[in-house]
Amino acid sequence: MKLPAISYTSPTSMEEACAMLSADDDSKVIAGGQSLLPVMAMRLAQPTVVVDLAKIPGLAALEEVGDYVRFGPMVTHATIVSSPLVANLLPMMSSAGKHIAHPQIRNRGTLGGSLAHGDAAGEWPLVLLALDGMVEVQSVRGKRTIDADALFVGPYMTSISSDEIITDIWMPSRPRGWAYGEFSRRSGDYGLANVAITLATEDSGVADARIAVGGAVGKIQRVPGAEDLLRGSKVAADLAERASIAGAESLTYISDMHGSAEYRRGLVQELIRRTILEAGART
Ligand code: FAD
Repeated sequence: MKLPAISYTSPTSMEEACAMLSADDDSKVIAGGQSLLPVMAMRLAQPTVVVDLAKIPGLAALEEVGDYVRFGPMVTHATIVSSPLVANLLPMMSSAGKHIAHPQIRNRGTLGGSLAHGDAAGEWPLVLLALDGMVEVQSVRGKRTIDADALFVGPYMTSISSDEIITDIWMPSRPRGWAYGEFSRRSGDYGLANVAITLATEDSGVADARIAVGGAVGKIQRVPGAEDLLRGSKVAADLAERASIAGAESLTYISDMHGSAEYRRGLVQELIRRTILEAGART
């Protein structure tokens, strides 16, 4: 389908962009357009004005700041996947990013757009949650920071208000064991089940675990039952098995033509088991 008629604006400062968003309830930010344009073509979103972030300087930053890597929202998937800094400090991002669609989409699509879109099958929302990252947003009312745990509230729903723009994404770069697992029918397809995990360990065993599940569920979420089982124990095959069963049991699965709820549950259980062992080997 063709796009509906829209007005297009291209502000040159964040303040101007925020003013435009707050002036019209039916306006929407556009970044890479790789999700917004398809949903507009399908008439699932009908903004009257699109506010393009492309001409605002400084939104494609990618730099190490203390114990974090700071990303501007307009950093593309392709830049992240090919960045030596990311490969060194956030190898999970390099690994997960390769699963996002195809090169053409990775060249245009952005980190900020993916997080704001809040697709439960998206790779970046899952990685943000497993890494315990945060996003900074700005509006005419000022700035605020949203932790990953408070960001994803439902299918394609985040706690970012319609007049707020993501200005920065902060990913902690402290060393932790990590693993990313995804099962899709073809390379480049959205995953039927995706799991991202980080583990912090001390001598007695796992000190902290964050296991995020997407793809198979309507909303990206952690599995606290599985995380609790890991805490205080050494990673081992039987523990990974028990935690994966507990994690998979705690979720409600989507069912569609690509896979039944039962099938997706099996995928999630196996991905949790494998990623626990992989992350454990990296601690
Ligand atoms: P846009 O499409 O421009 O915007 C998406 C939404 O975010 C809009 O609601 C927009 O208003 C909002 N937004 C954008 N930037 C900001 C900001 N800074 N602050 C606040 N709101 C903002 N993604 C995956 O993760 N995995 C896949 O496997 C995958 N496969 C795909 C396959 C196809 C064929 C296509 C077309 C897309 C696919 N995508 C996939 C989506 C792609 O990754 C998008 O790039 C991404 O979801 C959105 O980024 P964008 O920059 O294109 O955002």
